[in-house]
Amino acid sequence: MNVMLKNRILLTIITTAITLSGCISPSLNNFYHYKASLQSISEPPHLQIILTDYREVTNALLTIEQSYSVYNYSPERRLAFTSAKLWIKRSSGESVKISTSANGIQLGLTGIPSDDIVLVPTDGLILTESRPYKGRMRIKKTGAKITFINIIDLENYLPGVISSEMDESWPEKSLAAQAISARTFAFFRIKQSKLKEAEIDYDLTDDIFSQVYRGEERTGPKTRKAIEDTKGIIMAYNGKIFNSLFHDTCGGYTESGELVFKLTPLPPLAGRKCGFCGHSKYTNWQARYTVKEIVVGLKLSKDAYIEEIKPLKTAPGGHILELGLKIRGKSQEMVWEAQKFRIALGPNKLRSSMFKVTNNGDNFEFTGQGWGHAVGMCQEGTREMSKQEYCPREILEYFYPESRVVRIY
Ligand SMILES: [Zn+2]
Repeated sequence: MNVMLKNRILLTIITTAITLSGCISPSLNNFYHYKASLQSISEPPHLQIILTDYREVTNALLTIEQSYSVYNYSPERRLAFTSAKLWIKRSSGESVKISTSANGIQLGLTGIPSDDIVLVPTDGLILTESRPYKGRMRIKKTGAKITFINIIDLENYLPGVISSEMDESWPEKSLAAQAISARTFAFFRIKQSKLKEAEIDYDLTDDIFSQVYRGEERTGPKTRKAIEDTKGIIMAYNGKIFNSLFHDTCGGYTESGELVFKLTPLPPLAGRKCGFCGHSKYTNWQARYTVKEIVVGLKLSKDAYIEEIKPLKTAPGGHILELGLKIRGKSQEMVWEAQKFRIALGPNKLRSSMFKVTNNGDNFEFTGQGWGHAVGMCQEGTREMSKQEYCPREILEYFYPESRVVRIY
């Protein structure tokens, strides 16, 4: 290796380590923990993200800023999900109504004889009525409905995640830790998607069931820098990518992925004391539901009347795992997994499964701590650790014990 190249590589490593760490020792020498079993790749992979606002809709408008080509969809990731070119649209900027036709997909007045296509712009953004997106837009027809799936490379996808999951105003180190965690999560989902047998193949959704992704709606320079500084860096445990879950506020303790989601036991997802998120506005919350709201939310039979809700099983950190519901006139208690119960009743109202519940006549009063499922990284804890000058590696290794930070491209 020539000296100039060697110096350049050394400089890159030192610069990255300093930018990311902010704490000189011991991160300079062991920032990256290479593992032979994790293969390096030459460039970021392309992802497919289903846009939940446009999942099986009858029609929708798209505005494509520049000229674009229409390709047939290919399931091959290395071809960036396109095969034969079907059509080129040279004029640009106008809105096109997308719908279905008897033999395919209708783009305005033009019928495309395919049920699965990808629009590839020469440059610029693709605008749905909700928000703008970079990359490509796949349109998949199922019956008389269409679904939009954004196809984008991992590094261009991340700004839309970090700016939705955190905020430009957060400390740089927390944005960098979130970038590494979100990148790892996306890689893990790519691995899983090969096994998925859904009607529409995709890697991630754009909501809390994967990680929130709002396209180019709120991205800013600080978020972009955090992603550039951590480009190609992910976390691994024992040489393997793992399911690097995260949540808003743990409420004091994170929980085990095995207990909360029945995941394979793994040290990085074992749960631990947090102690950094006491400032969060979701440290304490209250929510009230009528019996009827709960019956509707849980999709119980209309005449069901809930007399009591009580915890049956609780994780070591204090989050409820299973709830028992006593229904009037039924001898058997109904058992609900606490996370499914939360999701059914609205996870932005019943914010966590760490709560006490009291029955006030026709209402149930929930008094709880934290926001989210409490597995993996606590985002508000990350924010506080960054303020206290912990570096991203230290933050990640704190919330994902025994994990290692690795560069793969
Ligand atoms: Zn926490």
